[in-house]
Amino acid sequence: MSSLIVVDDEFAFADFVAKVATGAGYDVTVAETAADFRRLTERVWPRVLVLDLYMPDTDGIELLRELKERHCDSRIILLSGTDGRVLDAAYRLGGELGLAMAEKLTKPVRAPDLRRLLDGLRGDRPPPTAESLAAAIAGEQLFLLYQPKVELKSGRIVGVEALVRWRGEDGGVILPDSFIPLAESAGLIDALTDWVVRAAFRQAGHWQGRGLDLHMAINLSAGNIHDRHLPDSVARQCAEAGIAPESVTLELTETASSKDSATMLEVLGRFRLKGFRLSIDDFGTGYSSVAQLLRLPFSELKIDKSFVSEIGRSREADIVAKTLIDMAHNLGLTTVAEGVESQRSLTALRAWDCAMAQGYLFSRPVAAEAVEQMLPPQESGA
Ligand code: C2E
Ligand code: MG
Ligand code: MG
Repeated sequence: MSSLIVVDDEFAFADFVAKVATGAGYDVTVAETAADFRRLTERVWPRVLVLDLYMPDTDGIELLRELKERHCDSRIILLSGTDGRVLDAAYRLGGELGLAMAEKLTKPVRAPDLRRLLDGLRGDRPPPTAESLAAAIAGEQLFLLYQPKVELKSGRIVGVEALVRWRGEDGGVILPDSFIPLAESAGLIDALTDWVVRAAFRQAGHWQGRGLDLHMAINLSAGNIHDRHLPDSVARQCAEAGIAPESVTLELTETASSKDSATMLEVLGRFRLKGFRLSIDDFGTGYSSVAQLLRLPFSELKIDKSFVSEIGRSREADIVAKTLIDMAHNLGLTTVAEGVESQRSLTALRAWDCAMAQGYLFSRPVAAEAVEQMLPPQESGA
């Protein structure tokens, strides 16, 4: 049985985590103080550690450093009740120290979200290997879900983002954060992207054939951009599927695009010349400067969900989101807010003139048929 320790002095919260984790099959222990925690982990590390940044006798950042010194190999979930920025900084620090940071969560945490996270961390599934991923790509064990992109003025679904999933041997679903980094490091990212592009274009062609006008967004990895031939092969696949490049958006994370090289400029420039739209994803989380953003030919900016989810709860998140929207508009970029979960965020984003939104408030990523059911009857051809 996988073990989990929750370190939190707030009884009600520790109890909540303990209940969800027990339900997910963990053997759970609660540590109310750092001293308790040290005693519990003297000999063996639990599979998962749930840590509150704010504790009475130490702070989470100090504890992270201690974990590194004591060679902790637990998967770490970092929590905070207040400042999202401190949480982000601490989470990043943990990663830089080489700790296995699994997720950062702001309270209140929803039980289904925590459950899903814990299910993925249980460890009864062997970690993916390069061989198993290569076999999954070749053997059609990957599949795509689609998350609707909603135009805020009209409330219409104008497109979808394709998000890859891996159906594991045990029938469970493996999320991309658990295998995209592996694909990148094992030299499988081109094969994976090729599969995703093919599957997403096939779906887009199918929708177009039924008269459904949906934009398709696809995520690219930093590793893909170093292939100079990528724009040609994507354009060819587009033509084969019978869809227009103008209806395709390629999303690149901010961190990926900060590797600003001549090849990057060449590849991105050629995508644009061929008519594809380019989006800078997770904007606000990387280190790229606005100058870098200006140098690359993006058409869309996606505000990272870490800000969007905090809108209306954190003054900083409000300022960042609003400033990014204004800046994007001034640069002639379309704005998309990702991770819209509340009416509160939506109302603010509308007031700030954000063009599009994606998030659980509208829909989780779903199968293609489920997207069709969300479209108005005249559009779905029914
Ligand atoms: P991303 O491109 O920024 O995608 C958004 C992620 O946020 C998705 O996670 C989506 O399920 C999740 N999300 C959407 N709405 C909400 C919300 O309201 N609240 C919260 N908490 N989350 C929301 P997912 O599908 O697990 O993908 C994670 C990341 O993996 C993606 O982030 C993307 O960077 C990468 N990825 C996904 N599919 C592909 C792919 O086909 N190729 C490559 N290279 N990367 C991919
Ligand atoms: Mg994306
Ligand atoms: Mg994103």
